[in-house]
Amino acid sequence: MPQALSTDVLIIGGGVAGLWLNARLRQQGFATLLVESASLGGGQSVKSQGIIHGGAKYALHGALTGSAEAIGDMPRRWREALAGTGELDLAGVRLLSDAHYLWSPGTLAGNLTSFFASKAMRTRVDQVKGEQLPPALQDPQFKGKVYRLNELVLDVPSLIARLADLAGDSLLAGQHIEALRDGEELVGLRVDGREIRAQRIVLSAGAGNQVLLDALGLSQPAQQRRPLHMVMLKAPTLKPLYAHCLGGGPKPRVTVTSHPAADGQWVWYLGGDIAEADGVAREPAAQITAAQKELASLLPWVDLSQAQWATLRVDRAEPAQSGLLRPDNAFLADQGRLLVGWPTKLALAPDFAERVLASLARDGIQPGAAATLPDLPRPPLARAVWEELLP
Ligand code: FAD
Repeated sequence: MPQALSTDVLIIGGGVAGLWLNARLRQQGFATLLVESASLGGGQSVKSQGIIHGGAKYALHGALTGSAEAIGDMPRRWREALAGTGELDLAGVRLLSDAHYLWSPGTLAGNLTSFFASKAMRTRVDQVKGEQLPPALQDPQFKGKVYRLNELVLDVPSLIARLADLAGDSLLAGQHIEALRDGEELVGLRVDGREIRAQRIVLSAGAGNQVLLDALGLSQPAQQRRPLHMVMLKAPTLKPLYAHCLGGGPKPRVTVTSHPAADGQWVWYLGGDIAEADGVAREPAAQITAAQKELASLLPWVDLSQAQWATLRVDRAEPAQSGLLRPDNAFLADQGRLLVGWPTKLALAPDFAERVLASLARDGIQPGAAATLPDLPRPPLARAVWEELLP
């Protein structure tokens, strides 16, 4: 029987939300344990596009909802963290692009008018031309308008590695999780048979929250999954591009991010509308064909004859919302000792941690448990998804 442990905060799930929270808590003197059942970041986090949104994408609806409001401060907070002067020291995390771009390929004036008219837009937007254009768009054939957004793009594997460093000895690989009760009261969890008592338990297991809630006999908070069918391609001819390409509708037609592969080539990762409903319905081969047509029409000067292609099906996990709307903020629900949530975006991990810290402060939870831990089995770091799919 493994040794019983006690900690201040027991976190389940080592994606960006759990790892960011863990680092913030440790910084404030809390003893923590973070349990990961597979690999750190390997759920949605390393499959994300790594964009630290400032809300610009949501302003495409014309009238900005709370979405942009909640998220408007995130680029600043992340920039400070990356500079080593923010709430966490993320100096050394690889910044892929200091800006994300909004790219209007044709005459979509109406769409852009409502975008720029939006008073709630807090991010600065400047039009760029010529040599300021993203390298992949610097071609005589390029027509259209490009705006620079105050949003960053991060190399998520390096972010996860840094957050894992900040976790020190608090990480535990564990699969089988059961409730640990004192009478009716939940006092901790049993992880692979090991009793772990805690003042607070946080479920930040992404899509895994549902299974954990079921195991604890709870039906709330309800979760929704939003399926995506992403496309990636690798070719020696690719140059970096970080942009939302506008279509006629409220969502970007395609969102392109670029990621360095271990062999020195660039990988383009395609999300946005192409990865949503119609894309989800397509089989992988048809999804690749759709992406090839899209890129051939938008960027005909890019030679893709040597490209390797793959698709990735992945669900976003979020709190349930009517009509599968995007939630506006990080979400956290608390019921006694148990806190359950979803950041809803990588960019909102700081907001998720803030909500947990506010809940602890409200309940008067102070650092208390002994911080020394035995040697624990440590979960591995997830590999970049393109290294798996485009070797
Ligand atoms: P996850 O990263 O899913 O982590 C949950 C972890 O919990 C996993 O490691 C999993 O193995 C573990 N786990 C599950 N069950 C258990 C269990 N029973 N016990 C222990 N551990 C368990 N957001 C942005 O801000 N910008 C973007 O550009 C962006 N692009 C995206 C692109 C895609 C294709 C997707 C799918 C999402 C994107 N997002 C983006 C959203 C963002 O990725 C997620 O909101 C964020 O990563 C969620 O983090 P998380 O830590 O809650 O979940």
